[in-house]
Amino acid sequence: MEWDREATARLERVPFFVRKKVKKQIEDFVASQGKNKVTSEDVSKARQQLAGGVPLKTGQGELTEAELGRITELIEKGVTIEGLNTKHIKFRVCGGAAGCPLTLMDLKPLAMRLADLAKEQKLEDFIAGSHDGPTLFHHQFKIALAGCPNNCSQPQIADFSIIGQAKPVRTQGKCNQCGLCVKACKEQSIFLEADGPVFNYDLCLNCGDCTRYCAKEAITNSPVRYQVLIGGKLGRHPHLALTVANEADWTTVEELFKKAIQAYKTKALDGERFADLVQRLGADILTN
Ligand code: SF4
Ligand code: SF4
Ligand code: SF4
Repeated sequence: MEWDREATARLERVPFFVRKKVKKQIEDFVASQGKNKVTSEDVSKARQQLAGGVPLKTGQGELTEAELGRITELIEKGVTIEGLNTKHIKFRVCGGAAGCPLTLMDLKPLAMRLADLAKEQKLEDFIAGSHDGPTLFHHQFKIALAGCPNNCSQPQIADFSIIGQAKPVRTQGKCNQCGLCVKACKEQSIFLEADGPVFNYDLCLNCGDCTRYCAKEAITNSPVRYQVLIGGKLGRHPHLALTVANEADWTTVEELFKKAIQAYKTKALDGERFADLVQRLGADILTN
């Protein structure tokens, strides 16, 4: 399928490891509209669908054009939170911190808490002392927070990341069999029985979409939990982050963060990046 110049430029900004998949999703979307050329406007519309789910009424009403536009903007630009970044520690916080309606958690205080912990653990001083000359991009420790499993802040390529998770649970006696949740679930992890939805938790990403779509409150979210990843990076030898915890509570997130910094300080070779340390020794660095 043909892509115009602006659409091509936007595709090139998508991380290489998901670019092929994103390209296919956008082309499928454009084909479903009966067209054979991708424009920048198509990219925006396709991304709105990817972020907001199928264009159906939700339990809270239909997402408006303005909301969809806002989601697209937040997804593409991310958010800057004053006082978070330092010379050697950089945060990528997704649009959930600025009002993306899909976020499962309040990102700003969590990011601030991680920044405080990094300060307590003297991570800044450690990195500053671990290289000579000017601080370059690859010297910086990257921390990513994503409010939902759409992962707009690219947690797969950060040193330490958290992703919000909300496990769906059925409430007995409320389902009217409308089927909206089944259509909304992009993972095909819901099927309906006579007394309501049943979830395949092996496939479920804990994204919270089905809960948003259910107008009958027949699905509720369990308390928010976190997927924790370590050791992702781009650069000359890119690799994706490893998941070290799923459905972790916040206390566990803090423990893992402190352990990651301790491992970095005690196990890294001279000048070694944290992500390269994880690649060399594996996720066991947090336990051994
Ligand atoms: S990761 Fe989720 S909450 Fe964050 S900007 Fe993307 S869609 Fe919104
Ligand atoms: S759980 Fe909610 S959205 Fe799903 S079929 Fe029942 S009423 Fe509809
Ligand atoms: S929370 Fe799970 S079951 Fe619900 S829409 Fe997301 S992936 Fe599907």
